[in-house]
Amino acid sequence: MNPLAKFDRQFVWHPFTQMRDWLEREPIVITGGKGAVLRDVHGREYLDANSSIWTNLHGHNHPKINSAIQRQLKKIAHSSALGLANEPASLLAKKLIEAANPRSAIRSPQLKKVFFSDDGSTALEVALKLVYEFTRRTRGKTAGRASSRAAQPKFLSLEGAYHGDTVGAVALGHIDCFHKAYAGLLFKTDKVMSPYCYRCPFNRAKPERADAREYRKCNWECVGLVEKKFSARKKRGNSYAGFVFEPAMQGAAGMIPQPAGWLRRVAEIARGHGALLVADEVMTGFGRTGFAGDDVRSPRSKEKKSKPSHAGSHGHNLFACEHEGVQPDFLCLAKGMTGGYLPMAATLTTQKVFDAFLGEYHEFKTFFHGHSYTGNQLGAAAALASLDILQNEKSIRARRNLEDNLCDELKSLWQLPSVGDVRQVGLIAGIELVRDWRTREPFALRERAGIRVCEAMVRRGVLTRPVGNVIVLMPPYCTTQAQLQKMISALREAVKEIF
Ligand code: PMP
Repeated sequence: MNPLAKFDRQFVWHPFTQMRDWLEREPIVITGGKGAVLRDVHGREYLDANSSIWTNLHGHNHPKINSAIQRQLKKIAHSSALGLANEPASLLAKKLIEAANPRSAIRSPQLKKVFFSDDGSTALEVALKLVYEFTRRTRGKTAGRASSRAAQPKFLSLEGAYHGDTVGAVALGHIDCFHKAYAGLLFKTDKVMSPYCYRCPFNRAKPERADAREYRKCNWECVGLVEKKFSARKKRGNSYAGFVFEPAMQGAAGMIPQPAGWLRRVAEIARGHGALLVADEVMTGFGRTGFAGDDVRSPRSKEKKSKPSHAGSHGHNLFACEHEGVQPDFLCLAKGMTGGYLPMAATLTTQKVFDAFLGEYHEFKTFFHGHSYTGNQLGAAAALASLDILQNEKSIRARRNLEDNLCDELKSLWQLPSVGDVRQVGLIAGIELVRDWRTREPFALRERAGIRVCEAMVRRGVLTRPVGNVIVLMPPYCTTQAQLQKMISALREAVKEIF
């Protein structure tokens, strides 16, 4: 066994990994990468079909991001944001605010301030604490008294939600096998049904060989349940302070896409009840959810025809909320922000929230929160370069092509009887494996269906990880058509081999 693999097995404890399984085989040790390709210590090459857990945007070893980091490194790697500003973080904050408030969109409120942190979980923690404290301060005031009920702001998030692994972010989540064990550590949040058309009890349509959002038959009962939840909480005299959601697609829940119009509807309800909208775009941000399309892969487009387009230039949206013309009060960004190079995150919010934390020094209204590496220069330099690439014409064209090609290539998977649902939102695809597509019967998790398929894909030179029985494909934006075809055919052949 390679010595690096030995050290790994001896000393490293891997995230979200059953280490007993891990220790049974030699791990793949990555030593290099270029574009969509990763190379291991034995010189074997693999396609990075989930963009290194949804982080990488433009491919590995991108010359522009490399040189932006190198240029920054010659100046300084890091100085603290506690008491000091720095060059790339100031520029990045300006660019993020511009990107999050595109001129083409009619939006209110505007996002005006950026709070930097380190990863998706911390971006959510920041939003959580700001919603909590903002609500305590402002609701107390409107009521003319600091009522004890208003002093306990409540949160609503979606069934199956995952917002990170720090304790606050875990409290917002609702995936039992991740969260249940820690219930004693958590504060209580409420959950509401999320639209999972493929497995929705209100969907009266029989299974078809198409994305379930296309052929669903329902009366938007999921939206009705959101309304009910908000009304019930209002009756108890303590409306929700924050509504936390992933727009367009819930990732760790199982790549669950929302039908067109769902987000717009529930955002209106939440606003009507005075809740602040917290959009977790840790996965969906920075172009992942693609274009305001006009074919089957984007059922949202059907609704859009009768509505003004909120898409930025070229129908191109950097953030998923824009597809539905929803402006959140908090936009949480991480993962792809640095192009997948360095851990850095941002929580964008409004002037109103910012102002609630202003005061005399001795009033201690300060937001007492921050991390050692907040606003790190190397991360900010990478993020600036990544944004630059994202916004250039060539990259926009390439993403549009990749999205179209992904749509075309995915079609072949419907031939497989153990593929129940193929769902695509932009440059994200989730393929749900089932015992039989006619019954939608799921595999028991202990059968490790998703894991076995991914292991068979690795043997074909394609790396990805499942979410339960859902295989995730999230190619880097630089993926060529031939590489994409290889990803899909590896998946197709792997499914045939396993079932
Ligand atoms: N929110 C979402 C939607 C995520 O997908 C993730 C990570 N998978 C997180 C938050 C947490 O991000 P991180 O792992 O960077 O803390």
